[in-house]
Amino acid sequence: MPDVKNTIIIGSGPAGFTAAIYAARANLKPFLFEGLAKGGQPGGQLMLTTDVENYPGFPEGIQGPELMEQFRKQAARFGTELLREDVTNVDFTKRPFKLSAGGQDYVSKTVIISTGASANWLGLPSEKALQGFGVSACATCDGFFFKNKEVLVIGGGDSAIEEATFLTKFASKVTVVVRRDVFRASKIMQDRLFANKKIETLWDSTIVEIKDPAQRKVTGAVLKNLKTGAVSEKKCDGIFMAIGHTPNTEIFKGKIELDAKGYVKVHDGSLTNIAGVFACGDVQDFKYRQAVTAAGSGCMAALDAEKFLESEHA
Ligand code: NDP
Repeated sequence: MPDVKNTIIIGSGPAGFTAAIYAARANLKPFLFEGLAKGGQPGGQLMLTTDVENYPGFPEGIQGPELMEQFRKQAARFGTELLREDVTNVDFTKRPFKLSAGGQDYVSKTVIISTGASANWLGLPSEKALQGFGVSACATCDGFFFKNKEVLVIGGGDSAIEEATFLTKFASKVTVVVRRDVFRASKIMQDRLFANKKIETLWDSTIVEIKDPAQRKVTGAVLKNLKTGAVSEKKCDGIFMAIGHTPNTEIFKGKIELDAKGYVKVHDGSLTNIAGVFACGDVQDFKYRQAVTAAGSGCMAALDAEKFLESEHA
């Protein structure tokens, strides 16, 4: 049987690294699985952003990947053992818990799940090429860079309307591109959108290409009307995807309680339905989804794990 660890953390975004910093400083000698690029996004969603200007402590802003490197270094400095592997299976049916990664088994008294969520994307090559260069999935993070510019928001749910409304604080014009002729969003959100003079809605439409990867910036979008098939081009300076998020909980299905959308259910801070398994960050939060709130919840999970281990030894 492999050594029994105190705490294994799965995921390397702000939540996972913060949990690691706290667990390491509590002398728990945590293990943290950073994941491989193919299984998600090591470092989390901030690896896909450029400037982060809303993380406290960086008045001049910081690049997303650089911020995550700082988190990583801080976790390593206090003795977190970092492993670049994807966890491929978990067994929470008995304690200590068992995890499989890279063909090996690991056992631990506690597990902190911080695998995050991934924004859904349309899947266009031009969209991928321009992520962080005018294509974003987070208006709160990147809206500020579009002062007096024209932007598109793709999606028809509450997030799309929330993002569009937020963007009108900066942008001169926001066009919401909806693939059907109705919104999925709640009535109250729709009323807010229709009352906002800076927002226009383009129905039955989708984006088929974003211009212009060659210039490394967004200059416009090729739109297709899904009813008529007509193709047109629209100039814009930024494009915000708001077509939902998917929590990274595939390996936890049937192993831990998830909500209808697949997010890990937590109560009293970071506690899941299994004693000794904790969750933090976007994997359990579809509402706030900010680096700072994820980091805060990572701290909570580490403190909860520490308390759990103490109570076991009492
Ligand atoms: P939703 O799943 O509610 O909406 C996703 C939207 O994106 C839908 O309009 C969907 O279209 C559209 N869409 C999906 N895939 C594509 C695609 N490939 N191309 C074009 N459009 C696409 O996700 P949200 O992120 O908006 O919301 C998630 C949850 O969070 C919801 O429960 C929501 O109510 C909640 N929320 C609440 C807020 C609030 O109350 N203030 C704010 C933000 C979110 P279609 O309708 O045709 O499927």
